[in-house]
Amino acid sequence: MDTIAKLLKGKGQRLTSQKKEVIQVLQKKPLTVLQILTLVKSKKGMIDKVTVYRILTSFVKLGIVKEINLGAREVRYELTNCEHHHHLVCESCGQIEDIQLCEDALLKEVQQQSQFKVKEHSLEFFGTCKKCQ
Ligand SMILES: [Zn+2]
Ligand SMILES: [Zn+2]
Ligand SMILES: [Zn+2]
Repeated sequence: MDTIAKLLKGKGQRLTSQKKEVIQVLQKKPLTVLQILTLVKSKKGMIDKVTVYRILTSFVKLGIVKEINLGAREVRYELTNCEHHHHLVCESCGQIEDIQLCEDALLKEVQQQSQFKVKEHSLEFFGTCKKCQ
């Protein structure tokens, strides 16, 4: 939170209590705009969808938050200050789990086969979680 506050300040942005709350609810897992709205509302009671969108858009621009596209589902937002990881998406209950993989070999293969200069990548897995199996 401190680093984010500093980052915002450095960009001439104030860390309002609403922004703080949005960061707080995103701390645990990636969420849709609607989920963020519901969670922040339950704590703060005074925020609307437009404000959430506005905060998220500015966070994405600042690089604090990134959009993740989980298939045909809604776009979710996730903090960028966590380690590089991938997602396991349960198509039955909608739960999302993080998973860290050792992908050096894969990245090397991509490089060798394509000579494409990869800047970033995302990898999502779809299926059923342990509970839903
Ligand atoms: Zn990866
Ligand atoms: Zn599930
Ligand atoms: Zn994640």
